[in-house]
Amino acid sequence: MARMRTQVGIVGAGPAGLLLSHLLHLHGIESIVIEARSRDYVEQRVRAGVLEQGTVDLLVGSGAGERLKREALIRDSIELRFGGRRHPLNLRELSGGRAYTIYAQQEIVKDLIGVRLAAGGSILFDATGVSVHDFDTAAPRIRFRRDGAEMELQCDFIGGCDGFHGVCRPSIPAGALTVFERVYPFGWLGTLVEAETPEQETVYAWHERGFGFFNRRSPTLTRHFLQVAPDEDLANWPDARIWDELRVRLATDDGWQVTEGPVLNRNITEMRSFVVEPMRHGRLYLAGDAAHIVPPTGAKGLNLAVADVRVLARALGDYYATGRTELLDSYSATCLRRIWRVEHFSWWMTSMLHRFPGDDAFQQRLQRAQLDYVVSSRAAATTLAENYVGLPYDD
Ligand SMILES: Cc1cc2nc3c(=O)[nH]c(=O)nc-3n(C[C@H](O)[C@H](O)[C@H](O)COP(=O)(O)OP(=O)(O)OC[C@H]3O[C@@H](n4cnc5c(N)ncnc54)[C@H](O)[C@@H]3O)c2cc1C
Repeated sequence: MARMRTQVGIVGAGPAGLLLSHLLHLHGIESIVIEARSRDYVEQRVRAGVLEQGTVDLLVGSGAGERLKREALIRDSIELRFGGRRHPLNLRELSGGRAYTIYAQQEIVKDLIGVRLAAGGSILFDATGVSVHDFDTAAPRIRFRRDGAEMELQCDFIGGCDGFHGVCRPSIPAGALTVFERVYPFGWLGTLVEAETPEQETVYAWHERGFGFFNRRSPTLTRHFLQVAPDEDLANWPDARIWDELRVRLATDDGWQVTEGPVLNRNITEMRSFVVEPMRHGRLYLAGDAAHIVPPTGAKGLNLAVADVRVLARALGDYYATGRTELLDSYSATCLRRIWRVEHFSWWMTSMLHRFPGDDAFQQRLQRAQLDYVVSSRAAATTLAENYVGLPYDD
């Protein structure tokens, strides 16, 4: 077995693992990232695209945002659409000057891989059989296979950044974690389309037939989402049906037209709220989707992953600089304060905008009353705005 050593072993080269490795490097701390998929796969995985101001500030401030500064779209407004009418909300004005940014997750992943490799960082792609060991001692280990060879990485700490379906969280002994979970009775059918959508705003539509959404990802790309059954088969959704359904759910009295184009990518996402407490066991620290999931309606998952890693990098930085463990000890509690706020916002947006099976006319009237309130009360609109652009970090 080939043995290696580093200070922090990181499982997962998604946004959380890569950013953790990058921030640790800025603190002078060595890390090695172990990833199950190929570099090409993680660089092409289409997912999030809406960034909070704090996420952008952190990426740019840490030197990983050069391309983001050039190519990202900065947006001031979103639009709520219901009853055939458009209701723009100017978030910048409502939130005291903060905006949100459109820049695709796979571009962030490419940028972070670029800065890590340029700095001599180590990312081991295509690792199989990854497992984590002895994290309740001072000498944790990560084992895996690569190119047919058995490998072991010895480290001081493990960053469990391997997403919802990873190995780190399930390796923590049963009973050590408390799980909070809600699975929603619908999913999102998402498409990435080559189309020059004229609208600048991100559009969220409530409709009797279910939720609809689109935003312009770049001058030539548009992302659409439609609420569908959680077990929906993609084969039931040829392009023509997707365009028809978008036309119905996003229709406006002033004759909005969907901008069609070639569908480059399509997938179905399940909708779930999930949190484990605490986010640490011994020297294994969970961050990002490994510890929590939000339904994508609030556009928060990637932003939360970034917020966790920011706290963890600072805590590890303090430990290596001073030997103190206070920030590591408070890591979970610090992150969970923000996580639960964001869990609430994401659940609230989801509940307001989706059809739930068995919803009757009473429930629909309540949703419409809530939407009317959000677009007519400055106080209600401000609540949405300050959560959407991202609340300030409170640590
Ligand atoms: C359709 C969709 C739309 C979304 N929209 C938004 C949005 O607009 N804004 C937003 O903020 N968030 C959004 N999200 C959520 C966001 O994509 C996730 O929260 C984000 O990817 C979390 O990053 P992460 O690094 O924690 O996990 P991941 O991105 O899941 O990365 C985990 C990594 O670990 C690797 N891995 C898994 N298992 C192992 C293993 N055993 N060994 C080694 N490596 C392993 C995986 O291959 C992956 O590379 C969306 C998600 C979806 C699905």
